[in-house]
Amino acid sequence: MDHVNPNQGSAHGPPPVPPATPDPATEGYAVAGMPAPVPPAPNPNEPQVVQTDRGAKDGLAKCERCGATEISLNVATGNLRCGFCRHEWQAENALAAFNLNGDISQLVGTIVGSGSGDIMPSVEEVLTFKCTACGAEVVIDTATSTQARCHWCRNTLSMNQQIENGAVPDMILPFKMTKESAIEKISAFVKKRKFFAHPRFRNEFNAENVMGVYLPYMVVDINAHATLSGQGEHQTRSYTVKRGDNEKRVYDADVYNVMRDFDVHVDDLTVESSSERLNQDTSQNTNNIINSIMPFDVENSVRYDSNYLSGFTSERRDSNLDQLSPLAHTQAEDITRHRVNDTLKFYDRGVRWDSQQVHVKGQRWVSAYLPVWLYSYQQRKSNGKTFLHYVAVNARTGETMGSVPLHQGKLLAISGAVQAVGVVLFVIFSLVG
Ligand SMILES: [Zn+2]
Ligand SMILES: [Zn+2]
Repeated sequence: MDHVNPNQGSAHGPPPVPPATPDPATEGYAVAGMPAPVPPAPNPNEPQVVQTDRGAKDGLAKCERCGATEISLNVATGNLRCGFCRHEWQAENALAAFNLNGDISQLVGTIVGSGSGDIMPSVEEVLTFKCTACGAEVVIDTATSTQARCHWCRNTLSMNQQIENGAVPDMILPFKMTKESAIEKISAFVKKRKFFAHPRFRNEFNAENVMGVYLPYMVVDINAHATLSGQGEHQTRSYTVKRGDNEKRVYDADVYNVMRDFDVHVDDLTVESSSERLNQDTSQNTNNIINSIMPFDVENSVRYDSNYLSGFTSERRDSNLDQLSPLAHTQAEDITRHRVNDTLKFYDRGVRWDSQQVHVKGQRWVSAYLPVWLYSYQQRKSNGKTFLHYVAVNARTGETMGSVPLHQGKLLAISGAVQAVGVVLFVIFSLVG
Protein backbone atom coordinates (compact mmCIF):
# COMPACT_ATOMS: atom_id res chain seq x y z
CA MET A 1 0.00 0.00 0.00
CA ASP A 2 1.00 3.57 -0.45
CA HIS A 3 2.88 5.41 2.21
CA VAL A 4 0.39 6.79 4.69
CA ASN A 5 1.02 9.77 6.88
CA PRO A 6 -2.26 11.38 7.88
CA ASN A 7 -0.39 14.30 9.43
CA GLN A 8 0.67 15.46 6.02
CA GLY A 9 -2.88 15.67 4.77
CA SER A 10 -4.76 18.92 4.69
CA ALA A 11 -6.54 19.23 8.01
CA HIS A 12 -9.67 20.71 6.49
CA GLY A 13 -9.54 18.98 3.15
CA PRO A 14 -12.50 18.74 0.83
CA PRO A 15 -14.56 15.55 0.73
CA PRO A 16 -13.03 12.83 -1.43
CA VAL A 17 -13.30 13.43 -5.13
CA PRO A 18 -12.44 10.72 -7.64
CA PRO A 19 -9.82 11.84 -10.18
CA ALA A 20 -11.70 13.94 -12.67
CA THR A 21 -11.81 12.87 -16.28
CA PRO A 22 -11.61 15.92 -18.50
CA ASP A 23 -15.09 16.96 -19.51
CA PRO A 24 -15.12 18.77 -22.89
CA ALA A 25 -18.32 20.54 -21.90
CA THR A 26 -16.65 22.38 -19.06
CA GLU A 27 -13.01 22.41 -20.09
CA GLY A 28 -11.48 25.28 -22.02
CA TYR A 29 -14.19 27.86 -21.40
CA ALA A 30 -12.20 30.22 -19.23
CA VAL A 31 -13.15 33.84 -19.71
CA ALA A 32 -10.54 35.66 -21.77
CA GLY A 33 -8.08 37.53 -19.63
CA MET A 34 -8.97 35.65 -16.49
CA PRO A 35 -7.16 32.45 -15.65
CA ALA A 36 -9.54 29.57 -15.10
CA PRO A 37 -9.70 28.68 -11.43
CA VAL A 38 -7.77 25.48 -10.97
CA PRO A 39 -8.79 23.49 -7.90
CA PRO A 40 -5.82 21.73 -6.34
CA ALA A 41 -5.89 18.18 -7.64
CA PRO A 42 -5.98 15.65 -4.81
CA ASN A 43 -2.70 13.80 -4.59
CA PRO A 44 -3.68 10.13 -4.51
CA ASN A 45 -0.58 9.29 -2.47
CA GLU A 46 -1.47 11.55 0.39
CA PRO A 47 -4.38 10.72 2.61
CA GLN A 48 -7.22 13.17 2.83
CA VAL A 49 -8.09 13.95 6.41
CA VAL A 50 -11.69 14.43 7.46
CA GLN A 51 -11.88 16.56 10.59
CA THR A 52 -14.05 14.70 13.07
CA ASP A 53 -13.65 16.91 16.14
CA ARG A 54 -14.88 20.15 14.62
CA GLY A 55 -16.84 22.10 17.22
CA ALA A 56 -15.62 19.80 20.00
CA LYS A 57 -14.73 21.58 23.25
CA ASP A 58 -12.49 20.62 26.12
CA GLY A 59 -13.37 21.47 29.68
CA LEU A 60 -16.78 21.65 31.30
CA ALA A 61 -19.40 19.87 29.21
CA LYS A 62 -22.65 21.14 30.66
CA CYS A 63 -26.21 19.95 30.47
CA GLU A 64 -27.92 22.44 28.18
CA ARG A 65 -30.95 22.55 30.45
CA CYS A 66 -29.52 22.92 33.98
CA GLY A 67 -25.77 23.41 33.51
CA ALA A 68 -24.69 20.39 35.56
CA THR A 69 -21.63 18.41 34.46
CA GLU A 70 -22.87 15.08 35.86
CA ILE A 71 -23.54 13.52 32.47
CA SER A 72 -23.47 9.84 31.66
CA LEU A 73 -24.81 7.28 29.23
CA ASN A 74 -28.28 5.90 29.88
CA VAL A 75 -27.71 2.37 28.62
CA ALA A 76 -31.46 1.74 28.34
CA THR A 77 -31.98 4.49 25.76
CA GLY A 78 -28.49 4.96 24.33
CA ASN A 79 -28.78 8.67 25.17
CA LEU A 80 -26.61 10.87 27.32
CA ARG A 81 -28.45 11.84 30.49
CA CYS A 82 -27.99 14.66 32.97
CA GLY A 83 -27.63 13.25 36.47
CA PHE A 84 -29.50 16.21 37.96
CA CYS A 85 -32.46 17.14 35.78
CA ARG A 86 -32.69 13.83 33.82
CA HIS A 87 -32.62 15.70 30.52
CA GLU A 88 -31.57 13.30 27.73
CA TRP A 89 -29.99 13.87 24.35
CA GLN A 90 -27.98 12.02 21.76
CA ALA A 91 -24.83 12.78 19.79
CA GLU A 92 -25.05 12.75 16.00
CA ASN A 93 -24.41 9.60 14.00
CA ALA A 94 -20.70 9.92 13.27
CA LEU A 95 -20.43 8.41 9.79
CA ALA A 96 -23.36 10.46 8.53
CA ALA A 97 -22.17 13.67 10.20
CA PHE A 98 -18.77 13.44 8.54
CA ASN A 99 -19.91 11.91 5.26
CA LEU A 100 -17.74 8.86 5.95
CA ASN A 101 -20.32 6.35 4.77
CA GLY A 102 -20.42 7.28 1.07
CA ASP A 103 -20.47 4.83 -1.82
CA ILE A 104 -17.48 2.49 -1.46
CA SER A 105 -17.28 1.99 -5.23
CA GLN A 106 -16.37 5.70 -5.52
CA LEU A 107 -13.54 5.51 -2.96
CA VAL A 108 -10.18 6.57 -4.36
CA GLY A 109 -6.94 7.07 -2.47
CA THR A 110 -6.85 7.10 1.31
CA ILE A 111 -9.31 8.95 3.49
CA VAL A 112 -8.76 9.05 7.25
CA GLY A 113 -10.66 10.56 10.13
CA SER A 114 -8.60 13.15 11.98
CA GLY A 115 -8.81 10.93 15.09
CA SER A 116 -6.99 8.16 13.21
CA GLY A 117 -3.75 10.04 12.60
CA ASP A 118 -0.31 8.80 13.53
CA ILE A 119 0.49 8.79 17.22
CA MET A 120 3.27 11.15 18.19
CA PRO A 121 5.46 9.60 20.88
CA SER A 122 6.25 13.07 22.20
CA VAL A 123 2.65 13.82 23.16
CA GLU A 124 2.16 13.52 26.90
CA GLU A 125 -0.30 10.97 28.25
CA VAL A 126 -1.13 13.11 31.24
CA LEU A 127 -2.57 16.48 30.34
CA THR A 128 -3.51 19.45 32.47
CA PHE A 129 -6.70 21.43 31.91
CA LYS A 130 -7.88 24.58 33.61
CA CYS A 131 -11.27 24.25 35.26
CA THR A 132 -13.28 27.19 33.97
CA ALA A 133 -15.64 26.99 36.96
CA CYS A 134 -13.03 27.61 39.66
CA GLY A 135 -9.69 28.08 37.94
CA ALA A 136 -8.02 24.99 39.38
CA GLU A 137 -5.64 22.88 37.29
CA VAL A 138 -7.10 19.44 36.65
CA VAL A 139 -5.06 16.52 35.39
CA ILE A 140 -6.48 13.97 32.93
CA ASP A 141 -4.59 10.73 32.41
CA THR A 142 -5.43 9.97 28.79
CA ALA A 143 -4.14 6.40 29.06
CA THR A 144 -7.32 5.35 30.81
CA SER A 145 -9.81 8.18 30.49
CA THR A 146 -10.57 11.48 28.85
CA GLN A 147 -12.39 12.81 31.90
CA ALA A 148 -11.48 13.91 35.41
CA ARG A 149 -13.30 15.56 38.27
CA CYS A 150 -12.11 18.91 39.54
CA HIS A 151 -11.05 18.25 43.12
CA TRP A 152 -12.12 21.76 44.21
CA CYS A 153 -15.54 22.35 42.66
CA ARG A 154 -16.34 18.73 41.77
CA ASN A 155 -17.29 19.58 38.20
CA THR A 156 -16.36 17.02 35.55
CA LEU A 157 -13.86 18.09 32.92
CA SER A 158 -13.89 16.38 29.53
CA MET A 159 -11.38 16.21 26.75
CA ASN A 160 -13.12 16.05 23.36
CA GLN A 161 -10.57 17.67 21.09
CA GLN A 162 -8.23 15.26 19.40
CA ILE A 163 -4.55 15.29 20.22
CA GLU A 164 -1.91 13.13 18.58
CA ASN A 165 -1.84 10.40 21.20
CA GLY A 166 -4.80 8.31 20.09
CA ALA A 167 -6.90 9.07 23.18
CA VAL A 168 -9.83 10.65 21.33
CA PRO A 169 -11.13 8.53 18.43
CA ASP A 170 -13.29 9.66 15.53
CA MET A 171 -16.37 7.98 16.93
CA ILE A 172 -17.77 5.87 19.73
CA LEU A 173 -20.32 3.07 19.82
CA PRO A 174 -22.16 3.44 23.14
CA PHE A 175 -22.86 0.56 25.52
CA LYS A 176 -26.34 -0.86 24.97
CA MET A 177 -26.32 -3.60 27.60
CA THR A 178 -26.60 -3.04 31.35
CA LYS A 179 -24.06 -4.39 33.81
CA GLU A 180 -26.77 -6.68 35.23
CA SER A 181 -27.38 -8.29 31.83
CA ALA A 182 -23.63 -8.68 31.32
CA ILE A 183 -23.33 -10.42 34.70
CA GLU A 184 -26.09 -12.83 33.66
CA LYS A 185 -24.35 -13.60 30.37
CA ILE A 186 -20.99 -14.19 32.02
CA SER A 187 -22.46 -16.31 34.81
CA ALA A 188 -24.29 -18.48 32.28
CA PHE A 189 -21.12 -18.89 30.23
CA VAL A 190 -19.08 -19.96 33.27
CA LYS A 191 -21.83 -22.19 34.64
CA LYS A 192 -21.79 -24.29 31.48
CA ARG A 193 -18.06 -24.85 31.95
CA LYS A 194 -17.96 -25.22 35.70
CA PHE A 195 -17.62 -28.98 35.70
CA PHE A 196 -14.18 -28.79 34.09
CA ALA A 197 -13.15 -25.53 35.76
CA HIS A 198 -10.28 -25.28 38.19
CA PRO A 199 -11.54 -25.57 41.79
CA ARG A 200 -9.85 -22.33 42.83
CA PHE A 201 -11.54 -20.51 39.95
CA ARG A 202 -14.88 -22.00 40.96
CA ASN A 203 -14.40 -20.58 44.43
CA GLU A 204 -13.13 -17.20 43.36
CA PHE A 205 -15.44 -16.56 40.41
CA ASN A 206 -17.54 -13.48 41.03
CA ALA A 207 -19.25 -11.99 38.00
CA GLU A 208 -19.83 -8.75 39.92
CA ASN A 209 -16.21 -7.88 39.08
CA VAL A 210 -17.15 -7.31 35.44
CA MET A 211 -15.93 -4.04 33.93
CA GLY A 212 -17.21 -2.02 31.01
CA VAL A 213 -14.35 -1.18 28.64
CA TYR A 214 -14.24 0.74 25.39
CA LEU A 215 -11.67 -0.99 23.20
CA PRO A 216 -9.96 0.84 20.33
CA TYR A 217 -10.64 -0.31 16.79
CA MET A 218 -10.19 0.97 13.28
CA VAL A 219 -13.21 0.69 11.01
CA VAL A 220 -12.13 0.28 7.42
CA ASP A 221 -13.90 0.48 4.06
CA ILE A 222 -11.98 -0.83 1.08
CA ASN A 223 -12.62 -0.41 -2.64
CA ALA A 224 -10.46 -2.96 -4.43
CA HIS A 225 -10.17 -4.63 -7.79
CA ALA A 226 -9.29 -8.30 -7.99
CA THR A 227 -7.89 -10.32 -10.87
CA LEU A 228 -7.44 -14.04 -10.43
CA SER A 229 -6.37 -16.55 -13.02
CA GLY A 230 -5.64 -20.24 -12.95
CA GLN A 231 -7.00 -23.62 -13.98
CA GLY A 232 -10.18 -25.39 -12.98
CA GLU A 233 -11.30 -28.98 -13.52
CA HIS A 234 -14.82 -30.14 -14.25
CA GLN A 235 -15.56 -33.86 -14.03
CA THR A 236 -17.26 -35.29 -17.12
CA ARG A 237 -17.45 -39.03 -16.41
CA SER A 238 -16.57 -41.58 -13.78
CA TYR A 239 -16.54 -45.31 -14.35
CA THR A 240 -14.91 -48.55 -13.25
CA VAL A 241 -12.36 -50.45 -15.27
CA LYS A 242 -11.32 -54.00 -14.65
CA ARG A 243 -7.63 -54.83 -14.65
CA GLY A 244 -7.26 -58.52 -14.05
CA ASP A 245 -8.90 -59.19 -10.70
CA ASN A 246 -8.78 -55.55 -9.63
CA GLU A 247 -11.39 -52.89 -10.27
CA LYS A 248 -10.33 -49.32 -10.56
CA ARG A 249 -12.37 -46.10 -10.48
CA VAL A 250 -11.47 -43.73 -13.30
CA TYR A 251 -12.48 -40.07 -13.61
CA ASP A 252 -12.52 -38.01 -16.79
CA ALA A 253 -12.33 -34.25 -16.44
CA ASP A 254 -12.10 -31.22 -18.66
CA VAL A 255 -9.49 -28.62 -17.76
CA TYR A 256 -10.40 -24.95 -18.18
CA ASN A 257 -8.46 -21.75 -17.95
CA VAL A 258 -10.34 -19.80 -15.30
CA MET A 259 -10.22 -16.07 -14.87
CA ARG A 260 -12.10 -13.74 -12.55
CA ASP A 261 -11.90 -9.99 -12.75
CA PHE A 262 -14.16 -8.00 -10.43
CA ASP A 263 -14.52 -5.18 -7.92
CA VAL A 264 -14.53 -5.87 -4.19
CA HIS A 265 -16.21 -3.52 -1.72
CA VAL A 266 -15.43 -4.21 1.93
CA ASP A 267 -17.71 -2.33 4.32
CA ASP A 268 -16.89 -1.70 7.99
CA LEU A 269 -14.06 -4.15 8.49
CA THR A 270 -12.99 -3.81 12.13
CA VAL A 271 -9.29 -3.99 12.98
CA GLU A 272 -7.97 -3.89 16.52
CA SER A 273 -5.74 -0.92 17.12
CA SER A 274 -4.28 -1.77 20.51
CA SER A 275 -0.88 -3.38 20.02
CA GLU A 276 -1.50 -5.51 23.09
CA ARG A 277 -4.65 -6.98 21.54
CA LEU A 278 -2.96 -7.36 18.16
CA ASN A 279 -0.28 -9.46 19.76
CA GLN A 280 -1.61 -12.96 19.14
CA ASP A 281 0.74 -14.66 21.60
CA THR A 282 -1.75 -16.96 23.24
CA SER A 283 0.63 -18.22 25.91
CA GLN A 284 -0.07 -15.19 28.08
CA ASN A 285 -3.66 -14.33 27.45
CA THR A 286 -6.57 -15.08 25.21
CA ASN A 287 -6.89 -12.05 22.95
CA ASN A 288 -8.56 -13.93 20.14
CA ILE A 289 -11.63 -14.08 22.38
CA ILE A 290 -12.29 -10.43 21.58
CA ASN A 291 -12.34 -11.32 17.87
CA SER A 292 -14.94 -13.99 18.42
CA ILE A 293 -17.54 -11.59 19.86
CA MET A 294 -17.66 -9.67 16.56
CA PRO A 295 -19.39 -8.11 14.75
CA PHE A 296 -20.39 -4.74 16.16
CA ASP A 297 -22.99 -2.50 14.52
CA VAL A 298 -20.34 0.16 13.98
CA GLU A 299 -22.64 2.06 11.60
CA ASN A 300 -24.55 3.24 14.69
CA SER A 301 -21.48 4.91 16.22
CA VAL A 302 -21.91 8.51 17.29
CA ARG A 303 -19.63 11.54 17.42
CA TYR A 304 -17.12 11.21 20.21
CA ASP A 305 -18.17 12.72 23.52
CA SER A 306 -16.21 11.87 26.67
CA ASN A 307 -19.45 11.69 28.64
CA TYR A 308 -20.13 8.32 26.99
CA LEU A 309 -17.10 7.03 28.93
CA SER A 310 -18.40 8.07 32.32
CA GLY A 311 -18.52 4.94 34.49
CA PHE A 312 -16.52 2.91 31.96
CA THR A 313 -12.83 2.57 31.26
CA SER A 314 -11.16 2.81 27.90
CA GLU A 315 -8.01 1.63 26.25
CA ARG A 316 -6.07 4.06 24.12
CA ARG A 317 -5.22 3.27 20.51
CA ASP A 318 -1.46 2.85 20.10
CA SER A 319 -1.12 1.54 16.53
CA ASN A 320 -0.84 3.59 13.35
CA LEU A 321 -2.21 3.01 9.88
CA ASP A 322 1.20 1.81 8.65
CA GLN A 323 1.02 -1.09 11.07
CA LEU A 324 -2.65 -1.86 10.53
CA SER A 325 -2.92 -1.51 6.74
CA PRO A 326 -1.22 -4.81 5.86
CA LEU A 327 -3.60 -6.61 8.24
CA ALA A 328 -6.65 -4.97 6.72
CA HIS A 329 -5.48 -5.71 3.20
CA THR A 330 -4.80 -9.35 4.02
CA GLN A 331 -8.32 -9.61 5.36
CA ALA A 332 -9.67 -7.97 2.20
CA GLU A 333 -7.80 -10.60 0.15
CA ASP A 334 -9.27 -13.38 2.28
CA ILE A 335 -12.75 -11.96 1.75
CA THR A 336 -12.07 -11.82 -2.00
CA ARG A 337 -11.02 -15.48 -2.20
CA HIS A 338 -13.98 -16.49 -0.10
CA ARG A 339 -16.49 -14.60 -2.24
CA VAL A 340 -15.08 -15.84 -5.52
CA ASN A 341 -15.72 -19.43 -4.47
CA ASP A 342 -19.44 -18.88 -5.03
CA THR A 343 -18.76 -18.46 -8.74
CA LEU A 344 -16.68 -21.62 -9.09
CA LYS A 345 -19.29 -24.33 -8.46
CA PHE A 346 -18.96 -25.66 -12.01
CA TYR A 347 -15.35 -26.67 -11.33
CA ASP A 348 -16.26 -29.55 -9.07
CA ARG A 349 -12.69 -30.85 -9.01
CA GLY A 350 -11.33 -27.53 -7.82
CA VAL A 351 -9.53 -24.46 -9.09
CA ARG A 352 -5.84 -23.74 -8.72
CA TRP A 353 -4.97 -20.04 -8.90
CA ASP A 354 -1.67 -19.22 -10.58
CA SER A 355 -2.03 -15.52 -10.05
CA GLN A 356 -4.10 -13.53 -7.55
CA GLN A 357 -3.98 -9.76 -7.57
CA VAL A 358 -6.01 -7.54 -5.29
CA HIS A 359 -5.41 -3.89 -6.00
CA VAL A 360 -6.70 -1.47 -3.36
CA LYS A 361 -8.08 1.56 -5.22
CA GLY A 362 -9.49 3.38 -2.24
CA GLN A 363 -9.73 3.02 1.50
CA ARG A 364 -11.34 4.87 4.36
CA TRP A 365 -10.13 4.63 7.97
CA VAL A 366 -12.08 5.75 11.00
CA SER A 367 -11.03 5.12 14.60
CA ALA A 368 -13.70 3.98 17.04
CA TYR A 369 -14.26 2.89 20.61
CA LEU A 370 -16.34 -0.29 20.78
CA PRO A 371 -18.07 -1.42 24.00
CA VAL A 372 -17.15 -4.68 25.74
CA TRP A 373 -18.07 -6.06 29.15
CA LEU A 374 -15.01 -7.88 30.46
CA TYR A 375 -14.58 -10.33 33.25
CA SER A 376 -10.92 -11.16 33.76
CA TYR A 377 -9.27 -13.74 35.94
CA GLN A 378 -5.55 -14.07 36.55
CA GLN A 379 -4.64 -17.71 36.87
CA ARG A 380 -1.51 -18.58 38.79
CA LYS A 381 -0.15 -21.83 37.47
CA SER A 382 1.83 -24.30 39.54
CA ASN A 383 4.98 -23.45 37.53
CA GLY A 384 4.72 -19.86 38.77
CA LYS A 385 3.54 -18.45 35.44
CA THR A 386 0.33 -16.51 35.16
CA PHE A 387 -2.31 -16.68 32.47
CA LEU A 388 -5.00 -14.07 32.00
CA HIS A 389 -8.43 -15.53 31.34
CA TYR A 390 -11.30 -13.45 29.99
CA VAL A 391 -14.98 -13.72 29.48
CA ALA A 392 -16.02 -10.94 27.10
CA VAL A 393 -19.51 -9.78 26.19
CA ASN A 394 -20.27 -7.68 23.12
CA ALA A 395 -22.20 -4.85 24.79
CA ARG A 396 -24.32 -4.33 21.67
CA THR A 397 -25.29 -7.88 20.68
CA GLY A 398 -24.72 -9.88 23.88
CA GLU A 399 -22.42 -12.31 22.05
CA THR A 400 -20.29 -13.93 24.74
CA MET A 401 -16.98 -15.78 24.55
CA GLY A 402 -14.26 -16.58 26.99
CA SER A 403 -11.90 -19.00 28.62
CA VAL A 404 -11.86 -20.45 32.11
CA PRO A 405 -8.94 -22.14 33.86
CA LEU A 406 -9.33 -25.90 33.56
CA HIS A 407 -9.01 -28.58 36.18
CA GLN A 408 -6.33 -30.69 34.48
CA GLY A 409 -6.76 -33.69 36.78
CA LYS A 410 -10.45 -33.95 36.04
CA LEU A 411 -9.84 -33.54 32.30
CA LEU A 412 -7.24 -36.33 32.32
CA ALA A 413 -9.52 -38.58 34.30
CA ILE A 414 -12.35 -38.02 31.82
CA SER A 415 -10.20 -38.49 28.74
CA GLY A 416 -8.71 -41.57 30.41
CA ALA A 417 -12.21 -42.92 30.91
CA VAL A 418 -13.10 -42.20 27.29
CA GLN A 419 -9.99 -44.06 26.17
CA ALA A 420 -10.83 -46.97 28.47
CA VAL A 421 -14.30 -47.17 26.91
CA GLY A 422 -12.61 -47.12 23.50
CA VAL A 423 -10.36 -49.99 24.45
CA VAL A 424 -13.31 -52.03 25.77
CA LEU A 425 -15.29 -51.40 22.56
CA PHE A 426 -12.27 -52.35 20.48
CA VAL A 427 -11.92 -55.62 22.38
CA ILE A 428 -15.62 -56.37 21.92
CA PHE A 429 -15.47 -55.63 18.18
CA SER A 430 -12.34 -57.73 17.87
CA LEU A 431 -14.07 -60.62 19.59
CA VAL A 432 -17.16 -60.31 17.42
CA GLY A 433 -15.32 -59.55 14.14
ZN1 LIG B 1 -29.46 18.92 33.57
ZN1 LIG C 1 -13.19 23.40 39.43
